[in-house]
Amino acid sequence: MSDDAMRWSGQRADRVDEGTLPGLARLTGFVRSVRTPEFQGVTFHEVLAKSALNHVPADARMLPGEYTINPYRGCTHACQYCFARPTHTRLGLNVAGDFDNEVVVKTNIVEVLRNELARKRKLPPRVAFGTNTDVYQRAEGRYELMPGIIDALAGHRIPFSILTKGPLIRRDLPLLARAARSTTVHLGVSLSMLDEELQQSVEFGTATTTARLATVRAIRDAGLECTVFLSPILPHLSDSPAQLQELVAAVASAGATDVLYHPLYLSSGVKDVFFAWLRRAYPALVPEYAKLYSAGSETAYRHVIGDRIRPLIAAHGFPEPDRTIEDKFALNGRRGQPVAEEPAQATLF
Ligand code: SF4
Repeated sequence: MSDDAMRWSGQRADRVDEGTLPGLARLTGFVRSVRTPEFQGVTFHEVLAKSALNHVPADARMLPGEYTINPYRGCTHACQYCFARPTHTRLGLNVAGDFDNEVVVKTNIVEVLRNELARKRKLPPRVAFGTNTDVYQRAEGRYELMPGIIDALAGHRIPFSILTKGPLIRRDLPLLARAARSTTVHLGVSLSMLDEELQQSVEFGTATTTARLATVRAIRDAGLECTVFLSPILPHLSDSPAQLQELVAAVASAGATDVLYHPLYLSSGVKDVFFAWLRRAYPALVPEYAKLYSAGSETAYRHVIGDRIRPLIAAHGFPEPDRTIEDKFALNGRRGQPVAEEPAQATLF
């Protein structure tokens, strides 16, 4: 191959890299690693899943839904505070750049899900998307797994919720609106700051705030309700009374039907990534954050934020601001079957 041809072959769409990540390649179901010019710096690791439905242990539930479906692992949205980062270490990958750039894709997940649902005597009572990685991250534009998944769940009338930062959900709104006629569908958009410079720094792979507000509006225009997650609220960066007032007003005028709020939470596995970003972007705030995120100090801060934001939420006529995430985002009017006594196999692939 000539030098030019070799250079071109390296740029070509769907370039396959054999064995770039030996740890992944050892996993059952690993098919290939792919790079493509539309996703500079990102490698997709395509795997064949053995199961689609993951049963979430009760003590691990951060959001409601006894089951999740994760077509992707890793997330190019690259939020520096993302609590899902530590899950990448189970794949032999790191919690920082690898989580943002090495995305595992379960390419056969629709087929596996259909088979699982057809075989199940008892269907899952509900399924939550977006509790681990964002199903409408940019990879979904390439792999288009969600339409088949939505169709399969709606076909069995299984309630589901989707939490996303990705305007790509707009592609599936007709399908989601149709699904909502046969089962309960809860949609949520995550959005916690209007300062686009800050947002593009701390969530540099995500759509802008403006695009997300437009997504809320589009969801409402499709006739669906939309909860907005004001999370995470960042101490000294997006938490002033004026910033919160502007944020809640913007979300209300976009048509949100409900809001939830949550201050920044940093688990031990994520702290290093977040503090590395903070040192680069806002070094003067490092001592303040170190104080806040030392043992026990976050609780007091949660109260401060609650006191600031609750009256704003109430003033805009949103439902009770004091309910927990689980209460507010719970799926009522279940139309699926009772909870499966035998949980689905909770395997990675
Ligand atoms: S969009 Fe969600 S899953 Fe993706 S990096 Fe951000 S917080 Fe994590």
